[in-house]
Amino acid sequence: MAATEEDRFYLKVMTIKESCKVLYAEVDSEFADVLLSFLTLPLGTIMRLLIEHYGNNAPILGSLKSLYVGLQNLDGCHFWTEAGKLMLLNPRNSSDMHCSRLKLQIDDICPIQCFVCCNGTCTSVYDKVKCLCPNSAGIMTKRDLEIEPPRGEDSLEEAGIMTKRDLEIEPPRGEDSLEEGVFTVQKASFLLTDDLQVLPNSPISLLRILKLNGVEDTNVIEERTLIFGLKEIMELLKGSLVSRTPLTDIIGGISAAAASYKTRRNFLMSAICEQDELPRTSVKITIEALVHYSTKRILLAQSRQDFVDFLFSLLTIPLGCVQFLLDNRTCFWSINNLYRSISKLEIGEHMRSKDTKSRLLDPELPPYYLSSSQIFPLEEQSSPQLYRLRDGNQLKLFESLPKDIWREMKMIDPKGKDCFVKGPTTFMVTDDLVVSIPSSTSMISILNQMKIPLSEVKVRELEIGIEEALSILKASLISTHALTEGLKPFLKRQANWK
Ligand SMILES: [Zn+2]
Repeated sequence: MAATEEDRFYLKVMTIKESCKVLYAEVDSEFADVLLSFLTLPLGTIMRLLIEHYGNNAPILGSLKSLYVGLQNLDGCHFWTEAGKLMLLNPRNSSDMHCSRLKLQIDDICPIQCFVCCNGTCTSVYDKVKCLCPNSAGIMTKRDLEIEPPRGEDSLEEAGIMTKRDLEIEPPRGEDSLEEGVFTVQKASFLLTDDLQVLPNSPISLLRILKLNGVEDTNVIEERTLIFGLKEIMELLKGSLVSRTPLTDIIGGISAAAASYKTRRNFLMSAICEQDELPRTSVKITIEALVHYSTKRILLAQSRQDFVDFLFSLLTIPLGCVQFLLDNRTCFWSINNLYRSISKLEIGEHMRSKDTKSRLLDPELPPYYLSSSQIFPLEEQSSPQLYRLRDGNQLKLFESLPKDIWREMKMIDPKGKDCFVKGPTTFMVTDDLVVSIPSSTSMISILNQMKIPLSEVKVRELEIGIEEALSILKASLISTHALTEGLKPFLKRQANWK
C-alpha cells in the first residue's frame, strides 16, 4: 500500500549533536496511535508484513519466519477447511475496526465482510467458508461475485463457497465517534524516547529523559524534523522488535537487525518463564523428541495434530497478548518499554478508555480463533450475529432485531471443527518449528547434515503444559532452536527416556 503525502508525519526529534543519538521525538496522538497499534498485530501478521516489505531481507525473528513459511508450504489437506489455513496465514486483528481509523495503516484492513450461502441460511464473516446445508454438501464451488444482487430465497443454484454480500454495519457507538483518537485521547501530546517509551509531554518527563541520557548542557541538543511515511513506520515496526534504539537507527539509516544482534543473543532463555498469575488450562499435549543425548539438542519432534495446531496458533496471538503472557519480559526490548509505558498512561487524560487500554495490553482473539489445542488461557471475541430481512436480502449486523421482520442467520465456524489442523496425522517439527509430514529421507538428511551418529540420538517423550508452552513461545521469538531452548529446562525434569 503506497503511503500518500497525507499519510506522512512530521516529527520534531531532539538528538545529541555529535552522535546523532535520539533523545526523544515529540509525537501527537495520531502518531502514537499508529505506534500503539503494533500491539494489536498478531505475530503472523507481523511476519507477513515484514516478508512483504523486506522480501528476503525480512528479519527471521527467532523461529517465527520458519514457522510461518512452513505453514505456507504445508498442504491444505492437513487443515479441516481452506478457510482455517487462511485464518492462520492472515490472522485477523481483533481491533481492525479501530485500526481502520489510523492515519497511516501498515496492513490492508478491510471492513468486516459477510458471506452467505446460496440458500440464504448460513453465513460467515470469513472468506472461503463452506456452508452446512444438507442439499449443498459435496458440490462446493467457488464464487467470485463481489456483491450478489438480491435473489429469491428459492433460487437454488450450485452450492458452494459462500458469496460475498453487502452488509450494513452498525455505526461505532459512544467512545468510537470519529472525532476521537483511536487509542489515545485526541490532541494528547507525547514524548517518545529512543527505546519507545511513550511519556506524557511534560516538563517532568523531559527532565527525566535528559537526566537518563546524561545531558548536562542543553547546548549539545539539536532539533531535527523527521518525515515518517510508510517506509519509516515499517522500519519502526522492525526496529521495535530487534533494536534497543529504533529511532536512532532510522536517523542513521542503520540496519537495526545487524546493530543489535549481539545484545539480543545475550538474552537466552535459561530461566523458565514464571507466570504464576495466569490461570491454568487443562490442555496437555504429548510429543516425542529426538534428542542428541550429549548436547541435549532437540533434532526434531514427532507429534499429533494438537501440537501443530498449538504452534500455528502462536501466529494468531496479538503482540500485546504475547507481552501479557510473558509478563512483558520478551526479547523485544523496545516493545517491553512501549507496553510498560502504556500501562502507566492515565485513562481520560492520555488513553481513551479502559477498553482501549485493554485492547492493547491484553487483546482478545477474533471470533472463532480459539482452538481446542490452545494451551494458553486466551479469550476470544464473541461472534457477531447476522440478521437477514425476511422479505428481502438486506443483511444487518446488530445485537438484537425483531424476529418477525428479521431472521437470525446460522453463523458457521470457519475452522470446520474446534481446531485448525486435521487429524489423526503424525507430523514432524524441526527445532526451528518447520512443520511437515515425516519421511525417512528427511530424517536421514537432518542426521547427515548434523553429522550425528545414531547411537547418540535418544527418543524422549515430553508433556507440553502451560509452562512448557510459555517457554516455547518465549524461545520462538528469539532463537532458531525454539524447541531446544524452550524445552531445555524440562528435559531434565521429565525423565521418560526411551
Ligand atoms: Zn447454507
